[in-house]
Amino acid sequence: MPPDATSLLTAQGVNAGYGTMQVLWGVDLDVRAGETVLLLGTNGAGKTTFLKSLVGLIEARHGNIRLGDADVTRMRSSERMRLGMTYMSELAVFPDLSIEENIRIGAQALGHPNPNINELYETFPVLREKRRAPASSLSGGQRKMLGIAKALAAEPRLLVMDEPSAGLSPLFVKEVIRILSDLRGRGLALLIAEQNIAFLEVASRVFVLEGGRIRFSGTVAEMTDNEALRKAYFGLK
Ligand code: ATP
Repeated sequence: MPPDATSLLTAQGVNAGYGTMQVLWGVDLDVRAGETVLLLGTNGAGKTTFLKSLVGLIEARHGNIRLGDADVTRMRSSERMRLGMTYMSELAVFPDLSIEENIRIGAQALGHPNPNINELYETFPVLREKRRAPASSLSGGQRKMLGIAKALAAEPRLLVMDEPSAGLSPLFVKEVIRILSDLRGRGLALLIAEQNIAFLEVASRVFVLEGGRIRFSGTVAEMTDNEALRKAYFGLK
């Protein structure tokens, strides 16, 4: 499929792996400006490997990655971040640093020395209360909030998130989904790798990754209409 004219991120034919092991086989995926895309797949499907190749933490051995007008395939991770792509890993925060230091680091990495911390605290009030405490003192759910706040401090155009539900109770998963819906409403583009289908609620399109290959891409409605996918994924939580 040719990239859409409004594509913010376009990956075409991406191969990647570790040593002699190839994990990704010709992965195509695109995210349009302001859109939320879910990359769905079970453990070991290659989601993390793909996200890392997008943001430049591992090399794409073949294929092409574009962000807006720029070909970023061979760019360093820091350059891709400067162009507006921010990565939130499963871990996402530095436990020994305070909440506020974590947020400032997220921004400083991109040359924004004075992030709008007050605005972030309005979205995440619990972080204001604990701003001088080390991130290690936060609960799992609060740490996830801090991870999102830290990523937002970099003022991305596209936020790339690896399993935001990891380690969270269903209640916190709901809270994360509520925050992501809010961010989507503000026009931020999101690419979310998940195995939890609860995130379909916030997505407009889905890519299903299996064994390092895209098995399906389409709208959420098209996915739920597909009987084989329904059977395969709708028992998954
Ligand atoms: P998970 O939800 O478990 O994180 P995933 O879909 O993100 O799964 P990946 O982490 O990308 O999958 O892993 C894909 C494959 O690559 C797996 O077989 C995994 O064992 C392997 N793999 C991942 N990281 C490395 C690494 N650093 N060195 C070698 N193999 C790796």
